[in-house]
Amino acid sequence: MENAAVCINVMMENIRKNSPSADMERIRKAVEYADAMHNGQLRKDGSPYITHPIHVAEIISEIGLDTDSIVAALLHDCIEDTASTFDDVAKLFSRPVAELVEGVTKLTRVNYTSQEEEQMENLRKMFMAMAKDIRVILIKIADRLHNMRTMDYQSEVKQKEKSLETMEIYAPLAHRLGMQKIKWELEDRSLMYLDPIGYKEITEYLQDRKQTHEQFMANIQSIIGQRLAEYGIQAQVYGRIKHIYSIYRKMYSQNKGLDEVYDLCAFRVIVDDIPNCYNVLGHIHDLFRLVPGRFKDYISTPKPNMYQSLHTTVIGNEGIPFEVQIRTQDMHNTAEYGIAAHWKYKEGISGNLGGEEKLEWIRRLLEGQEDADPEDYIHSLKVDMFDDEVFVFTPRGEVINLPNGSTPIDFAYAIHSEVGNHMISANVNNRIVPFDHVLQNGDIVEVTTSKSSKGPSRDWQKICKSNQAKNKIKQWFKREKREENVAQGKAAFEAELKRAGIAPASLTSDDVLPHILKKVSFGSLDDMYAAIGYGGLTTMKAVNRVRDELIRINKLQQAKEGEKAPAKLISQPKKAKNEKGIIVEGLDNCLIKFARCCTPVPGDPVVGFITRGYGVSVHRQDCANAIEANDPEKTDRWVNVSWAEDAGKESFTTSLEIVAQDRSNLILDVATAIATLKVKTTEISAKSIAGGGALIHLSIEVKNLEELRSVQNQLANIKGVSSVKRIRG
Ligand code: MN
Repeated sequence: MENAAVCINVMMENIRKNSPSADMERIRKAVEYADAMHNGQLRKDGSPYITHPIHVAEIISEIGLDTDSIVAALLHDCIEDTASTFDDVAKLFSRPVAELVEGVTKLTRVNYTSQEEEQMENLRKMFMAMAKDIRVILIKIADRLHNMRTMDYQSEVKQKEKSLETMEIYAPLAHRLGMQKIKWELEDRSLMYLDPIGYKEITEYLQDRKQTHEQFMANIQSIIGQRLAEYGIQAQVYGRIKHIYSIYRKMYSQNKGLDEVYDLCAFRVIVDDIPNCYNVLGHIHDLFRLVPGRFKDYISTPKPNMYQSLHTTVIGNEGIPFEVQIRTQDMHNTAEYGIAAHWKYKEGISGNLGGEEKLEWIRRLLEGQEDADPEDYIHSLKVDMFDDEVFVFTPRGEVINLPNGSTPIDFAYAIHSEVGNHMISANVNNRIVPFDHVLQNGDIVEVTTSKSSKGPSRDWQKICKSNQAKNKIKQWFKREKREENVAQGKAAFEAELKRAGIAPASLTSDDVLPHILKKVSFGSLDDMYAAIGYGGLTTMKAVNRVRDELIRINKLQQAKEGEKAPAKLISQPKKAKNEKGIIVEGLDNCLIKFARCCTPVPGDPVVGFITRGYGVSVHRQDCANAIEANDPEKTDRWVNVSWAEDAGKESFTTSLEIVAQDRSNLILDVATAIATLKVKTTEISAKSIAGGGALIHLSIEVKNLEELRSVQNQLANIKGVSSVKRIRG
């Protein structure tokens, strides 16, 4: 039980000592306000509640924070646990103080307890993201430190829960912030509740050997001290027993008994400057036998949390190994107090951590990134520490890390693509929100899914922030598109199949389908249809391959079964039927179209081109477009075609180009000549060209090449006509 008045006086005294520049007036006012607000509340040990914020404020002043932080530490539970509000605190103690208190309150409200190891990093990041101001984290760590110091009065369940949280969140944070002293205390106090037996084993072992250890340490200390004095090196030499949790961890990670953990003692040599650090190292290695592979130079390569020291392990005359850390006073302060040392001992870092260089330093420190990506580095200078990320909870307490500005859509896709695809509504902190609602740190997000959902809408791609969600939505549309592709491809394929005289059903029997799929190199018919629909495979090519395979199977079966029961997988190849007087090699009844570029007529050497969806287009072999038949990309789309014997019963439209000397009645003479030949004209047009010439374009219908030639001859005889040419390409 503590007395409030005594506590206040001791605190005022300590703060005056620790922080000579602190505004004692404001601190006095804050402690009186907090005392009044918490009046009547008691701690578990029966002490007045105010004793807790007082001790937290003491820790804050001890690590060297500013007056605002000390005041905020005194008020840190006011908004959460008393009638006091943000506005009250802002009015009485300034807005920055109110913001610090509110920051601590927000962190208090989040429940960080979780058993999942892989969640810890996210929880720590969320913690930092929510804090915004590094002083909020420091106050929260001081709060936890005092709570751990007074944990004996809590229930066993609470002790374990808080200790686990301390071990998982607060000790690693203290480590990141370089606060070694606080980290060690948090770890040891947590271990005491988490594994009381293991803790007791180590403390009792150390207690039993206390005298031996002290003698050993005094001996080593004097050996080092004498040697350095001989060489005129100013230094302080300290010996200490390593902290309990570090011994505990060594036992467990190396599977050793306590008797096997030798290096329980560690020494620290503090000197004036860096050259002397290396001097001392030389003397240590001269005095004792070096343990190879244990030397570490954190002076030339500081740890991400700014820690600097030389570490070496040596063996004394007794054969006991021990570690020696060599550093300057400056480095020592940083090691003990970490980031706070920069308030306490160094100039330049103001309370609000202004200046981009400092922000970057702190960010690296918090994230523990030794080698930040340079692009990321530049990005991070522009934004606040974690302003590009937001951390939210699932209803089960898992933390989901999303880009800032994320919505329930991003959340849903982060859980699983199926959750995203079937989401029908979203809840944030138990309230229904629209899908474009922007998530905040610490939100608890829940989405409802339904099998009957129609899937994502295209708008979602604009609403969501994460690439993950964007890609998954894109994928969904592609897959949906695939279904369209399959449907389209299937229809085209089956139509072509019918034209070739094959019933679609003849492909699907168990003894045929695997061979067909192998022949077309697809895993399933749907895959083939999708490829046809997508344009990756022509129906013609697919049908040709299928037909070839069916014929092969058919022959095989016939050979097997003799003449008894000829299999009827495929209609027997009939005499090629022609369409419009054209026979396409290997294809019956396909749609034929004569190319407009070269307008072939029976008698012309021709070639066919398989178009997408319009059957075969027939070109003259000397057509410029048919030359493309050599294009390797398209070679498989050119097919051999020929004129049927009976071609020429019908008429074929073709075009001619007449070049003549322009004169009156030229068009009339041309038209008359054609009429005399009983040839039907479908189009006639003329235009003047340079040098008094005329160009006449003529479309006529002829039965064959012979008839066309005679038309050409007649036209060439007209007065003034210099040439009558067919148009090609
Ligand atoms: Mn508290």
